[in-house]
Amino acid sequence: RSNLLSFAPILINLQRDCAAPLPVLRHVADAMAADMRAGLAVDGGSDLKMILSYVDNLPTGNEKGLFYALDLGGTNFRVLRVQLGGKEERVVATEFDQVSIPQELMFGTSEALFDFIASGLAKFAQKEGGKFHLPHGRTREIGFTFSFPVKQTSIDSGILIKWTKGFAVSGTAGKDVVSCLNEAMQRQGTDMRVSALVNDTVGTLAGARYWDDDVMVAVILGTGTNACYVERVDSIPKLEGQKSISGRTIVNTEWGAFSNGLPLSEFDRQMDADSINPGEQIFEKTISGMYLGEIVRRVLVQMAEDADLFGEHTSAKLSTPFILGTPHISAMQQDSSKNLEAVGSILNDVVGVDSNINARKIVWEVCDTIAKRGGRLAGAGIVGILQKMEEDSKGVIYGKRTVVAMDGGLYEHYPHYRKYLQDAVNELLGSELSKNIVIEHSKDGSGIGAALLAATNSKYE
Ligand code: ADP
Repeated sequence: RSNLLSFAPILINLQRDCAAPLPVLRHVADAMAADMRAGLAVDGGSDLKMILSYVDNLPTGNEKGLFYALDLGGTNFRVLRVQLGGKEERVVATEFDQVSIPQELMFGTSEALFDFIASGLAKFAQKEGGKFHLPHGRTREIGFTFSFPVKQTSIDSGILIKWTKGFAVSGTAGKDVVSCLNEAMQRQGTDMRVSALVNDTVGTLAGARYWDDDVMVAVILGTGTNACYVERVDSIPKLEGQKSISGRTIVNTEWGAFSNGLPLSEFDRQMDADSINPGEQIFEKTISGMYLGEIVRRVLVQMAEDADLFGEHTSAKLSTPFILGTPHISAMQQDSSKNLEAVGSILNDVVGVDSNINARKIVWEVCDTIAKRGGRLAGAGIVGILQKMEEDSKGVIYGKRTVVAMDGGLYEHYPHYRKYLQDAVNELLGSELSKNIVIEHSKDGSGIGAALLAATNSKYE
């Protein structure tokens, strides 16, 4: 017979292993700052790649004219155009479109994929009209957000390291993806060119900065996670004397690879061992949306097997990896009804188990434990970045208003996670300093951000 006591040891062990009290947060923030420094010193110096974005000029609000953005990061690509009107008029108009990429192109040749994208862009550009105006004789300029691993070589070039996320396109790895797209546009007879190649985090920072000069950091918490920030060029030893005129540049941390001092449970270790990239992206596996639901599922499997959490019947569905998504655990946590009816129906619909009130309470606690750890560690990571910036420029971060722009479905749709993240930042900084640090949602800034970076890097300016 199931009773609360029989699940207690599993829950208590989980809560012990996943606890992120202030000393743990402090260690994580310090280690994040130290790993950032090591990655800035030399390539390969740390878990954090600290990739140079070559974005040395951020949007100011003065940008004017018509610019395009292209976002390729999954099974859809998105195109957008924006007419910018300068300080007063700002965003005069925007339009966007989304095209899904046929399965066969994900396994085809590089030429076929880029021809498809170029022709999509061309069709979208043909529909331009109304409030959108391109001065006579100009080429349309594009900010290209490309969310695959790239070795950036300048603001408008970058070598594809490898395709990920189900793409297996032949002939692109080792090539400059901007040339691939520009050549495809030439083949199609499209008069457009890429003037900025942008990581999605960098696009978010640029998009948020356009509206607010105090934005210094951008963080994405969606399926995966990443962060970037504005760095002083003289704090980047590996740049070896290359100067930017502004003296600042955006650094893409690739912080998902961080792994120092994280509180992990046996369930995290099993999930990592069973993953396609064991030993990699440990921070991402602890805090991001792809994994939170799966960690919870693994705990529930053990509770069902060892202590009959859902009675004597087991469910094949419960044994299916990734069947329980982070949106499900977010929905379960938001159930504040006395009998936890929403928890019961999600358990029933998604993993095919019956649950009594005691089981539902336990499930709620498991969701809370995993979301709390994720949110608190994400908060500690943010403070690690701020701390590193503050150490190099006394008072410039903590002594005035500083904004961290947040985006991604996890941050947007999981209120408990968001609160745990903010709690951790407040605990680490204390009530006085945390008044200056504003953590705010910047919705879909990255598309416009890429177009803004096309504007700041326009060949006509
Ligand atoms: P991307 O896949 O590019 O990261 P998003 O930023 O939209 O796209 O994030 C999608 C992710 O956000 C999902 O994989 C999921 O983990 C998380 N998510 C979506 N909806 C919710 C929700 N209601 N509650 C919690 N997490 C959610």
